[in-house]
Amino acid sequence: MSDVIRLLPDSVANQIAAGEVVQRPASAVKELLENSIDAGADHITLIIKDAGKTLMQVIDNGTGMSETDARMAFERHATSKIQKAEDIFAIHTKGFRGEALASIAAVAQVELKTKKEDEELGVMLRVEGSKVIEQEYCNTKRGTQLEVKNLFFNIPARRNFLKSNNVELRHIIDEFERVALAHSDIHFSFVNNGNELFDLPAAGLRQRIVNIFGSKFNEKLVPVDEETPILKLTGFICKPEFSKKTRGEQFFFANNRYIRNNYLHRAVCNAFEGLLTEGSHPSYFLFMDIDPAKIDVNIHPTKTEIKFEDERSIFTIIRTAVKHALGQYNIAPSLDFESDVDFVPQMKKGQTVPPPGVHINPNFNPFDEQPAGRSSSSAARQTSFIPQDVHTGKSQKTQDWEKLFEDIPELPDEPQRQETLEMGETTEVKKSYSQIGRKYIFTNHGTGIIMIHQQRAHERILFERIFQSLENKNIPSQQLLFPQNISFSSSDYQLIISLLPSLREVGFDIDEFGQNEVIINGIPLYLDSNLVKDVLERLLEDEKDHKSDGASKTHELMATTLAKVSAIKTGSPLNTQEMHKLVDELFACEMPYVSLAGRPVVVNLNLEDIDKSFN
Ligand code: ADP
Ligand code: MG
Repeated sequence: MSDVIRLLPDSVANQIAAGEVVQRPASAVKELLENSIDAGADHITLIIKDAGKTLMQVIDNGTGMSETDARMAFERHATSKIQKAEDIFAIHTKGFRGEALASIAAVAQVELKTKKEDEELGVMLRVEGSKVIEQEYCNTKRGTQLEVKNLFFNIPARRNFLKSNNVELRHIIDEFERVALAHSDIHFSFVNNGNELFDLPAAGLRQRIVNIFGSKFNEKLVPVDEETPILKLTGFICKPEFSKKTRGEQFFFANNRYIRNNYLHRAVCNAFEGLLTEGSHPSYFLFMDIDPAKIDVNIHPTKTEIKFEDERSIFTIIRTAVKHALGQYNIAPSLDFESDVDFVPQMKKGQTVPPPGVHINPNFNPFDEQPAGRSSSSAARQTSFIPQDVHTGKSQKTQDWEKLFEDIPELPDEPQRQETLEMGETTEVKKSYSQIGRKYIFTNHGTGIIMIHQQRAHERILFERIFQSLENKNIPSQQLLFPQNISFSSSDYQLIISLLPSLREVGFDIDEFGQNEVIINGIPLYLDSNLVKDVLERLLEDEKDHKSDGASKTHELMATTLAKVSAIKTGSPLNTQEMHKLVDELFACEMPYVSLAGRPVVVNLNLEDIDKSFN
């Protein structure tokens, strides 16, 4: 039998390698930017068209390449950055594998122009699918220009797998921001489809952060500066009161290389413990300076993951340093944890809250005209509930929810009972409501007790209402007295823009405002105007989690987010009337028993269960 094993032609081998190195336009952008940094450039311009699908170009004023080097640069494993195996353990450059240009040139049409300082003429080289198709001398400035056109032109399957322009551009912006943060001493420009997206002059880190994320960041930043024999940690954390519902700005750099490391992320979260409200995330920009021999950047080709020799000590150093920074700025004591609980009633000086309990009125007469249990203080709080007109009109059902729990036959005096029910709130006194731990509502019915999880219940109620009105295309909206401007990071902004159609569909009157800002003139009727930012942040977060394409959010997802943000939370005190209303509305729902996440909303303890507990 003849032999069957053959070496792959270079072009094929390069294409295979490209699968690892160039996953999407953003990965090529990262490689090109890093090459320019390694070449010592102090001004780097990135030009993008159609989210990198038709063009990615990087222009630098670095060392440039000689004619021979320009040819060599496109060979696989050709690098000027390491020479022997040991060098891998002392890496001071971004690149070292010599794979990037070879890979990019295998899957795109590449044009390189480069010139060294002391040469008169530069070289122009065109490479397509790993083949050099043109080479000549050219007039060009010192430095290198690399143009990558039609990525994956020769692999249609991969080209078809690219996401929408919005999503791909967001990835490019993410990479750009990471590189720009890591090198604030370099001037970066970014032009997208002919518009300047960023122009970042060389500056200190604080200024760079502000230039990227907006001037509001200046007051948010607290410096971190800690030096130990293992590691030097510098950078900034954001004050906890500015923490966000999205996981946006979390940056770790090791020797100026952006890295991802969940374990070290936890060290930061750990230091913030007790200072953040539930569901919010700390923002940070932390730079580790560490002996290159003590880290291994070699574990992943795209190199955002690295291994540390002594991860535990690094964990401790980071946690301590962040705690220290928080402490120095005396942030902890000034925090007001209650401030974002939107349901806390205003209390006068000296006023105290009565403990929750079951109140029995011995003089109660069910036929009395005067409805009982109306407290004047609740009128103001009532506004936080959904206005009645959004109601889907199922209220007849709400009045006899307790039947759901009754296994005893109907009361004999049905006509009289009917009459009482029609008097509306008088039914309340047949049942008592009490709140336990500001979390559960307890109420009784003929043969037992029901316990209701207040937050899950309200989420369910809001969800069904919002979902209904979306399905019926009848979205009640309110104009804002003062339009709200909300700003985002560039990549979040791209995402929000892609969500605009869905947002308008649910009742937002929202438009682009330029400079990474949106303007909101109107909001859904059921949304509290203080929660607008929360809703948008939460939508962004869901969107990132689902990695979907933006564009169309289903009604269900939209209703879920709006309901979750708007619902009363665990920890909010409720008065009797509010509890009554909540319970009635819950049992008017299609699915009162399960929460949006599929957990129980209602637990029923009947007489039998209670008896059992006493045996
Ligand atoms: P690596 O960066 O891992 O060495 P690359 O394939 O990215 O591998 O680049 C190959 C070589 O081409 C580099 O080692 C460098 O010598 C040269 N090179 C690439 N880009 C530039 C640039 N912008 N300026 C100068 N030289 C460059
Ligand atoms: Mg490189």
